[in-house]
Parts: sequence; structure tokens; C-alpha cells
Amino acid sequence: GDDDDPNKLWCICRQPHNNRFMICCDLCEDWFHGTCVGVTKAMGTDMENKGIDWKCPKCVKRQ
Ligand SMILES: [Zn+2]
Ligand SMILES: [Zn+2]
Repeated sequence: GDDDDPNKLWCICRQPHNNRFMICCDLCEDWFHGTCVGVTKAMGTDMENKGIDWKCPKCVKRQ
């Protein structure tokens, strides 16, 4: 589908995913590069395993 488009722009930096580690915001469901939001792949996996919601900087600000 359209979500697989390698040219689609994501994240606060508005860049393609480039096959880098991405994390999904549990509020707005946008995808962000781990490096742009300070989340490593290990941290993402850990949060997923523990069922911890991750919120992007935009959603954190909005709250
Ligand atoms: Zn980014
Ligand atoms: Zn968000």
C-alpha cells in the first residue's frame, strides 16, 4: 500500500524512512526515526514488550 512508499516523508525531520529504525507514536500514529527522537531500537523493543506507550515530541508538547 501507500505506507510502503520509500519516498514518503516521515518524522519531525520530514525525511524518508531510509530503512532506519522507526518508532510509532501511540497518540497520533505517525512514524519517527529513532535517532530524531532519541529512542534506540532496544528501547523501542523494550517499550513494546512492556506495553509502554510512546508519544512523539509533538504529542508530548500538546498535553
Ligand atoms: Zn527524522
Ligand atoms: Zn504523536
